[in-house]
Amino acid sequence: MTRIAIDTDAINLSQGFPDFDPPPEVREAAARAVRDGPNQYAVTWGSAQLRAAIGESLAKRHAPHFDWVDPAAHVTVTCGVTEGIVSSILGLIDPGDEVVIIEPAHENYGPATRFAGGTPVFVPLLPPSYELDLDRVREAVTPRSKAILLNTPHNPSGRVLTRKELQGIADIAIEHDLIAITDEIYDRILYDGREHIPLATLPGMRERTITIGGLSKTFAITGWRLGYVVAPDDLSRAARTVHDFMTICAPSPLQEAGIAAYALPESFYERQTAEYHERRDRMMQILADSGFEADPPEGAYYVMARYDAWNFDGSANDFACWLTRDVGVAVVGGSHFYDDPAIGEGQVRFAFAKKTETLERARERLVRGFRERQSD
Ligand code: PLP
Repeated sequence: MTRIAIDTDAINLSQGFPDFDPPPEVREAAARAVRDGPNQYAVTWGSAQLRAAIGESLAKRHAPHFDWVDPAAHVTVTCGVTEGIVSSILGLIDPGDEVVIIEPAHENYGPATRFAGGTPVFVPLLPPSYELDLDRVREAVTPRSKAILLNTPHNPSGRVLTRKELQGIADIAIEHDLIAITDEIYDRILYDGREHIPLATLPGMRERTITIGGLSKTFAITGWRLGYVVAPDDLSRAARTVHDFMTICAPSPLQEAGIAAYALPESFYERQTAEYHERRDRMMQILADSGFEADPPEGAYYVMARYDAWNFDGSANDFACWLTRDVGVAVVGGSHFYDDPAIGEGQVRFAFAKKTETLERARERLVRGFRERQSD
């Protein structure tokens, strides 16, 4: 959709990246590191200082959990969460293994499982509530299940899984001896005082959970490709082996800037949270003004919206392409996030990590487009 947006000069609310700048301290640190070094390979597991900062950040935010994390053994800096997922799955999944994947899901979970020769078994969160149906998760588990993969705060639904939902997953993982792989890339983007609960902090989960997170979203640096895998000894070793041979290392000067990012004060996160609330509320108002129906997200920076009032005859993908080309606002068809595309029909995803002016330009186009559609 980004490519169509570029070709058609549409406002790009499709792909999940900010159009505002990363914090100045972080950009400065990157410029300094490129100028003065390091510019050669980092240690394959990542800069020791950055690994320490990642471990400390988790331990501080989720005390008394993650106190076991030894950056020397348990933290690996990857080329984004994307690589963290692929390295973990390739390291742990053997041909014939099944991976239970909670969907709607980020696009690389299924392919990563298939690259390993495994079989993805999808369990959908269903609109409009996107609540986790634990019975469906149980039904998806077979003797061949090796792992369960989930994301919270969740793209694209905006759900933040509750302790009860996570406890249900933990119970199933423990009962069936599954490895849990969690994508927590939006752990710093939460609304209305909600709390992010890493699955690894639940009783009995630390030894079987691979916690994957990243810097892309928190620090608005999606193009830098910095993520991490935090896991106990054997799971960490499995992911590290693949990471080493696939990438050697994440970009070393940008890892230096990552250290500067982790040194930002608490006020950075407070301001960012306030700004994301503003963006979310603006997006919800834009959707209401232009005939979409949606519930406000609890976390992350997406909203799934129904477009019934637009009286459009066609699939969600057709609507997304039409909205991009004819109205000038790019979105993603809801069907793309499900293995069974039918579940995601009737809605499209808006990404709202954008400047106020970008969202306001989108408002103008969407309101005009909706009016014209009604007068047709
Ligand atoms: N996981 C989820 C749930 C995402 O939404 C995204 C990006 O949109 C990614 C992973 C990709 O993360 P990274 O930039 O760290 O590879």
